Amino acid sequence: MKTEQILIVEDEGIIAKEIQNRVERLGYLVTDILDSGEAAIETVHNNQPNLILMDIKLKGEMDGIETARKIRMLYNIPIIYLTAHTDEKTLERAKLTEPYGYIVKPFDETDFKIRIEMALYKHKMECENKELLEEANKILLKNLQIDSLTGIANRRKFDLRIKTEWKRTGTCRNFLSLILIDIDYFKNFNDTYGHQKGDDCLILTARTIEACLTRKGDLAARYGGEEFAVIMPATPLEGAIQVGERIRKEVENLALPHERSRVSDVVTISLGICTVFPNNHLEYYDLIKKADEALYEAKEKGRNQISYKNLGNFTAKEKKQNEIIFE
Ligand code: GH3
Ligand code: MG
Ligand code: MG
Ligand code: MG
Repeated sequence: MKTEQILIVEDEGIIAKEIQNRVERLGYLVTDILDSGEAAIETVHNNQPNLILMDIKLKGEMDGIETARKIRMLYNIPIIYLTAHTDEKTLERAKLTEPYGYIVKPFDETDFKIRIEMALYKHKMECENKELLEEANKILLKNLQIDSLTGIANRRKFDLRIKTEWKRTGTCRNFLSLILIDIDYFKNFNDTYGHQKGDDCLILTARTIEACLTRKGDLAARYGGEEFAVIMPATPLEGAIQVGERIRKEVENLALPHERSRVSDVVTISLGICTVFPNNHLEYYDLIKKADEALYEAKEKGRNQISYKNLGNFTAKEKKQNEIIFE
């Protein structure tokens, strides 16, 4: 006994019975024998068979081709037409519904068997290929959003995420924090130790930043050459400063020698933080701009430190609510 279920749509009782016998002799399960397109569509809505054997001339308003067209629009079920002497115009119309074959009456035993097997096999292959293709697409899409050097999210992913978080934060009336990070005197580092060591430093810095994040919604990304960014949804300024300080310390603790840094003898970073409470007058790039200004200030003030800014405002009531949320 095979597991495939076959639906028969045939309006002539004797022929329908003959088809049923043949199908069952081949070991398939006949789910139903119906004589109209309307009944076929209703049945398929409730239970999708693996294959439909569809007579072209049927009782009722719709013929087999119209029925097949409607079913194929909604379901990925292979259909084989059962035809007698059909004219060319009808066959042309049938072709448009992309059938998985035709079986011509009166039926030949071998022909009947092979055509059903071929349709089921072809459909199975199509489904497997589709799955493989979807899987490959997923991997491709994921790789498109990963920075090839450091393995963390790239600028593309950052851009997508900041936009979605901006929208979400606006609707939820919540904080959104952004940290921009830049390695101090990195040009000197490259000039002293070479680009290979420079790349290694970028990889270690990226991993350290990512390791400092504990919330699932946070995102660390490589923003540019030696610049990184951290998106932190639902995080007030105090929280962002805490994480920023943790990142600053951990990078310093890597203790990567940097003899031509003017602030330390190891590699250090400067951080610009901005926390926003979105309102109608603000856009997501205002947040990036402010964080960038803060980063510039951190550099000006002597590097290896954090500068921060606030953006946007909330009502007293919202402030109270958020204090409760973030206690
Ligand atoms: P500051 O403290 O003001 O940030 O000084 P800086 O030298 O880090 O700043 P600047 O932006 O002038 O230099 C950035 C340098 O980063 C330029 C380049 O040598 C280096 N860099 C950028 N991208 C890469 C990269 O992918 N690999 C390597 N090895 N170096 C990079
Ligand atoms: Mg008929
Ligand atoms: Mg820079
Ligand atoms: Mg730099």
